[in-house]
Amino acid sequence: MSGRPTVPEGSAPVPMLEVDGLVKHFGSTGLFAGARAPVRAVDGVSFTVLRGETLALVGESGSGKSTTARLALRLIEPSAGRIRFEGTDITSTSQRALRPLRQRMQMVFQDPFASLDPRLTVRQTLEEPLIVHGFGSAAERRARVDELLGLVGLAMHHASRYTHEFSGGQRQRVGIARALMLHPDLVVCDEPVSALDVSIQAQVVNLLKDLQARLGLTYLFIAHDLAVVKHMADRVAVMYLGKLVEIAPKQELFANPRHPYTRMLLDAIPRPEAAQQPRRQASTAVEPAGPASLPAGCRFHPRCPLAIERCRVEEPALDPAEPGHLAACHRKHELPPWQAAAAGPGTSVTALRLALYAQRKAAAQDAG
Ligand code: SF4
Repeated sequence: MSGRPTVPEGSAPVPMLEVDGLVKHFGSTGLFAGARAPVRAVDGVSFTVLRGETLALVGESGSGKSTTARLALRLIEPSAGRIRFEGTDITSTSQRALRPLRQRMQMVFQDPFASLDPRLTVRQTLEEPLIVHGFGSAAERRARVDELLGLVGLAMHHASRYTHEFSGGQRQRVGIARALMLHPDLVVCDEPVSALDVSIQAQVVNLLKDLQARLGLTYLFIAHDLAVVKHMADRVAVMYLGKLVEIAPKQELFANPRHPYTRMLLDAIPRPEAAQQPRRQASTAVEPAGPASLPAGCRFHPRCPLAIERCRVEEPALDPAEPGHLAACHRKHELPPWQAAAAGPGTSVTALRLALYAQRKAAAQDAG
């Protein structure tokens, strides 16, 4: 197979997918509209995925990241906002007109067992999208299936087996092969390794990276595990309760997070040296509000150790903390000095709180 060329080094980045002000409110229309508050699953999300890169969308369960991914592919309809694919606005394109573009935008699902039809053999599973889209003769389809089996590390004899005969890792390889059958450019990977054993996760992540390099793929990679994201992503966007709260190049975000929620996620990455310490710190013990009952002001303020009065009343905008690094926090410009002073990598949220307390006490003494 001849892979498409990746973006040459030094050339200007080309947007593949752009979403602008994307909104999805469930329960705001229909029979029961008005009976209860709508669920604001996605609430004004904007980002761009550049050709050839991996943008990771991370956050806890309920943050809206999977809904955002489905909206971006028009698998569900947005309540508001715009979606552009290679510069073409596809927000209100009919499903019929979207059909040719669907070939170029594919998805790898979290649970390969649920997403594969157990009544079909692997060959039938992989041939199905080719038949639906009218691709080639029977011989060409057969050759394409054989090619993809090899690309994802499966053997020819696997083609005649049923997916329930495979391990979780092998099933995800079939899921990845199916997503690649129609030569997509953009692949949305929705938590592709979170249902797999830890020992298998690295194999599948390495496979995805290898396929990206060989085929020039662009990934929107949905995950809650920042350890996986660190291996996969070029840039990282962090979501909290339907909003983007931080977006930055991977190295910058891991080294210099500006939003306390990002710091909390980083702090939750297991570290061998922290095995003896209690993991759940005071602020993280507060459960997040639901998207149907959002707090006023900054949505993170009930859990934030750095919240001030302004945070309870005024929603922070997502704007630059530094060039290329956006954060939605009233205190984003204050964080670096005491991060440097008191919060080396892996410092807990409690340590941040203590540092803040010391800072305030010193300021009060100075004023006194
Ligand atoms: Fe915390 Fe306030 Fe920043 Fe929100 S705006 S993350 S509450 S400091």
